[in-house]
Formats: sequence, C-alpha cells, structure tokens
Amino acid sequence: MNDCIFCKIVAGEIPATKVHETEDTLAFLDVKPVSPGHTLVIPKKHYENIFDIPEDILAKVISETKYIAKTVKESTNADGISISQNNGEAAGQVVHHLHFHVIPRSKHR
Ligand code: 5GP
Ligand code: ZN
Repeated sequence: MNDCIFCKIVAGEIPATKVHETEDTLAFLDVKPVSPGHTLVIPKKHYENIFDIPEDILAKVISETKYIAKTVKESTNADGISISQNNGEAAGQVVHHLHFHVIPRSKHR
C-alpha cells in the first residue's frame, strides 16, 4: 500500500482539495477534472476494486457518492451528474484504490 497515491492523500502525505470526509470515506477534487467540480469518492481503507471491497464498506462509499453527487450538482449548477467506477486496467483503472468519479455535466458546455 505504501506507494498508493490515494492512501497517501488519506494519510495527508500528499495534498488534495478535500470536499467532504466521513469516518470511512474521503471525497476530494480530481487533479485532472473532466469538468469543473469532478470529485473522487474513496474508502479511507485501501481496497483495489469492486471485487475486494466488503459490502458494508461499499454501501458507505455509495451512500457518500450520492451525497457528493447532490452537493456537487448544487455547487456547480450542473444539469446532470455522471458517476463512473473502473475495475482493472482493461477497464481504464489507473489508480488501484477503489474510487467513484462524480462528474458534473451541463447542456451548454
Ligand atoms: P481511474 O482512471 O483510475 O478511474 O481514475 C484515476 C483518477 O485519479 C484520474 O481521473 C486522475 O486524474 C486522478 N488522479 C490521479 N492522481 C491523482 C492525485 O495525485 N490527486 C488527485 N486529486 N487525483 C489524482
Ligand atoms: Zn490505497
């Protein structure tokens, strides 16, 4: 886990713009946003993907993802929100610490 960039963000070893934090989850801005307000939601504990995270922690991450979707939609004035989550390199996963993307979408952007 020592070279996991998201574990380092959780530990405060590298900076991130935090959006919201709970006991088990952290939400922070993506460093290369697809659109302004693009936020990542992660479990604080390291799980690589959907296949190895326990259901109870996943439920907390998804609940937090819903909360972040609502608050990001309101704060960016977006028309819609895309939520995505990649598992494995073939699926486009680059950072191997489970994360949900919350991406604001607008009709005229
Ligand atoms: P994936 O392709 O694994 O689903 O998405 C990884 C995401 O993490 C990318 O959107 C990328 O911009 C973001 N990311 C990678 N490194 C960092 C970092 O050090 N800080 C932040 N805030 N986001 C990162
Ligand atoms: Zn990690």
